This record gives sequence, C-alpha cells and structure tokens, in this order.
Amino acid sequence: MVDTGTKAFDVIICGAGPAGSTCALALADSGLRVAVLEKSSFPRDKTCGDAVAAYVPKVLATIDSALVRSLEDFTEKVNVNTCRLVAPNQKAFDLHFSQTGFISRRMDWDNFLFEKAVAKSNTTFFLNHTISDVTITSDGVTVMAGNTEFKGKMVIGCDGAHSVLNRKVTGTRPDPAHHCGAVRAYYSNVSGIPDNTFEIHLVKDLLPGYFWIFPVKNNLANVGLGVLSSVVSKRRMDLRASLQRVVEEIPYVSDRFKNAERIGKIEGFGLPLGSRKVPMSGDRFMLCGDAASLIDPLSGEGIGQAIVSGRYAGWHAKKCFEENNFSASHMKQYDAQVYQKFWSRHRKNHIIQRLMNSEWLLNGVFNAALKSSMIRNVVSKSFT
Ligand SMILES: Cc1cc2nc3c(=O)[nH]c(=O)nc-3n(C[C@H](O)[C@H](O)[C@H](O)COP(=O)(O)OP(=O)(O)OC[C@H]3O[C@@H](n4cnc5c(N)ncnc54)[C@H](O)[C@@H]3O)c2cc1C
Repeated sequence: MVDTGTKAFDVIICGAGPAGSTCALALADSGLRVAVLEKSSFPRDKTCGDAVAAYVPKVLATIDSALVRSLEDFTEKVNVNTCRLVAPNQKAFDLHFSQTGFISRRMDWDNFLFEKAVAKSNTTFFLNHTISDVTITSDGVTVMAGNTEFKGKMVIGCDGAHSVLNRKVTGTRPDPAHHCGAVRAYYSNVSGIPDNTFEIHLVKDLLPGYFWIFPVKNNLANVGLGVLSSVVSKRRMDLRASLQRVVEEIPYVSDRFKNAERIGKIEGFGLPLGSRKVPMSGDRFMLCGDAASLIDPLSGEGIGQAIVSGRYAGWHAKKCFEENNFSASHMKQYDAQVYQKFWSRHRKNHIIQRLMNSEWLLNGVFNAALKSSMIRNVVSKSFT
C-alpha cells in the first residue's frame, strides 16, 4: 500500500541505526509521540568493523537496566578483552582490558537495538521510508519521505554520514583531513586468531590508518582497513585493492589467509571523524552519531558515540518539551554535553593520528612499549 498524506508527531527521528534506536529508547517514557523514519527494513547490514566499545552496556543501563539483561542474553556476539597491536616492523604486543567489549555483525546488533525500540508504545517506526527533504520553520518541522509529510515540533538527525538533515540545515561539508575511507569484508577460516582478541595492524602503506582482523561468530572474521581521505586522494589509493594486497601479499598476514574464503563482497563506506567541531544543533533540531561527525579519529569507533549522543538527544528533547523551548540557544546544552564527553579524547587522538604518519616513530614506540607497561597503558587508552 502506498503511504500518502500528512502525519503528526511530537519528535521525528531520522534513521534507525544505533543513534536513532537509542534516541527512541531514551524517549520511551516521555509520553511524547515519536516517529522514526528509516530507509531500510530490519534486519539490515551496515558496513562496519562491528566492534562495540566496552562502555556501551553501561550507557544502555542509564536508559533502562532491562536492556543490559537482554544484552547478556544476546548471543550474536564475540566478547573481546584483548587488543593485539602490530607495528610496521611486525613487533606486536597484547593490551588486556579490565572491561569486555564485543564484536557483533551490524545485521544482528542494530536489529537488537531496533527490536528494543520498536517495542515501546509511544514510538512508531516507518521502515522503507527514505527521507528526501526537511524544512524547519518557527512553528515546527516537516520531513518528507516518499509521498508522506511528517510534521513535528522537532527533528533529530540520526541518518548517518550522508545525513539529509545535516546537509539541509548546517553548512558542514566533508573535509578530507577529517574524514576516513574504509573497506571491510567477511572471511571464514582465518587462522591464528587468538581467543577474545581483536587485531590492529599498523601496515606501513596505510599509515596513519590501519588494517584490522576482528573475530565474529561462526568462525568468521571481519577484515578491513581505513585510511584518512586526504591520504587516499594524495596517494590515489584504491582501498579494495589495498585490502586484497594486504591479505594476499604481506607474508605474515597472507600465511593466515591460505585456507580462508571471502564471504560476500568487499564493502566500503566513509567515516566523518570527530577531529573537528561541527554544528550539532540549531532551532528545532539536533544531530547525533555520524550525522554529527563523532567518530574517533584514531580508532574509527563511532557506535559508542552514536549511542551516547542518541541518548543525550533523547533526554534533551524531553527537556525541550518540558520547558517549551526549541531554540538554538537551548539546544546548545546538547552540544556541550556531547563535546564534554568526547572532545578531549578526540583531540588527543587526532594528535596521535598525525604522529602515526611516521613509521620510524611508531616502531620506536613499539620497541619502548615492549619494555614498559606504562607506555603500553598509554597506547591502550588511545585505542579503546
Ligand atoms: C568500514 C567501517 C568500519 C567501522 N568500524 C567500526 C567499529 O568497528 N566500531 C565502531 O564503533 N564504529 C565503526 N565504524 C563507524 C560506525 O559504523 C558508525 O560510527 C556508526 O554506524 C554510526 O551510527 P549512526 O546511528 O550514527 O549511523 P548509521 O549506523 O549509519 O545509521 C544511520 C541510519 O539512517 C538510515 N538512513 C540514512 N539515510 C536515510 C534517509 N535519507 N532516509 C531514511 N533513513 C536513512 C540508514 O539506513 C541507517 O539505518 C566503522 C565505519 C566504517 C565505514
């Protein structure tokens, strides 16, 4: 059936990825009428390394403790508490963490969050609804998806790296110095993957980016690489070819892929990095996750940032309705909360990212880290 006409809600959330589903969950007890517009249907995939930071369950617990119990029962994940870092000179050390993160295919993980959000009675999900336009006036917001017009008091952009809302209402454009290109593929039978361990290989030609091997369920591995977009352009890199080259030609890696089989295609996508501050809100709107350029400039993690910012946006939206204030100046409280949480880490990791251009410096750090637990701890805090 073709869905046409006008629909009225209080809050319209664009996108049902980690940011959008978490935002809906944070609004579940608000009594507000929430619409989530999503271009796909679930379960759906998203090109990613699939690594979920160890702090995420704690964030979900602040919304609803039942979410953490459900997460414990969620079996589509591999727990990880160790990161194996490999230097350009192939020296390696393991960083052990007190908290456990996990690797879960986005097909499963995003579906987990989506199912929790869809169960909330105040929220209506409109799947297969691609947003084409957003208009914000002094009275409210209008979001167009197909032939349907969604009206609300405010709109929250959780629609990812190519956010329609961001494009429409902020002047932010991708900047290759603050953007990363990345590709990944799934492989079966990669040998030598240690238990509960994800691997980061600082391969010389990819610096300041890296190659990764992350274990997923059923003897699969998520294998990929990410490189700063300015470097990709300068070196005219073809990232899919680079991935194949690392897997097939770098001896200490290719040995482990002798019996491996690639499952599906090599997929690519962009990462808007949080190494610069961008406008995240204004009159009647907030942006979350990738739409707000919140990805860690060193590790490439953005799922945790999407979940944290989605939660803050949901909580701040409640406040907007309580105080009947949807002004840009009131929304600034949201930006302040998000940057309070992430900016110092992102700024520090941006500095480290720039230092990682130097192969000899990295090799030196690794040589020192092999001798000093203090240096290993410093490195560990940057990557997790
Ligand atoms: C190759 C790669 C590897 C990565 N590895 C990791 C990792 O290991 N760990 C990590 O933490 N992060 C990783 N990231 C980053 C991570 O994928 C993102 O930061 C995260 O997905 C952001 O979540 P989000 O909810 O903001 O956006 P998304 O996950 O992109 O969700 C946006 C949602 O909006 C929907 N949407 C988009 N446009 C429209 C539209 N016009 N109309 C309606 N709906 C729309 C999409 O279908 C999607 O469901 C990686 C990224 C890449 C590209």
